[in-house]
Amino acid sequence: MIQDEMQCCSGGTAYSKEYLIQQQQQQEQARMEALERLAGQLDPWVHRAENMRCKTCMWFAPKKDSGGIVNLGRCRRHAPTMNGYPVVFVNDWCGDHKLNENAAR
Ligand code: SF4
Repeated sequence: MIQDEMQCCSGGTAYSKEYLIQQQQQQEQARMEALERLAGQLDPWVHRAENMRCKTCMWFAPKKDSGGIVNLGRCRRHAPTMNGYPVVFVNDWCGDHKLNENAAR
C-alpha cells in the first residue's frame, strides 16, 4: 500500500504500525491454514467419523421432547446397565456404528 509507506530519513522505507500488524496477522493466518492442510494430509483419521455419527446409527434411539426431537438419545447397541442405556448426543460416534439407511437420507 502506497499510503502505508513513508520515506525514512536514512532513505529506507518505513511502514505504519497498523500496516505491519496487518501484515503479521495475514502471515499468521496463512501459516495456520498451511498447518491445517498439512494436518489433514498427515492424519488419515481426520473426518473419518463424519459418516458414523450416532444420528445415523441403527442403535440410536432419539429422545423426543414435547417440542420435537432434541440432540440427545440412547445407544441400544448393548443391553442396558443399572443406569439404563448409555446417553449419547447425535454427533457422538463409536466403532460399533451401523448405518441406519433411513436415518442417513
Ligand atoms: S454409541 Fe456407537 S453404537 Fe451407539 S448409537 Fe452411537 S455410533 Fe451407534
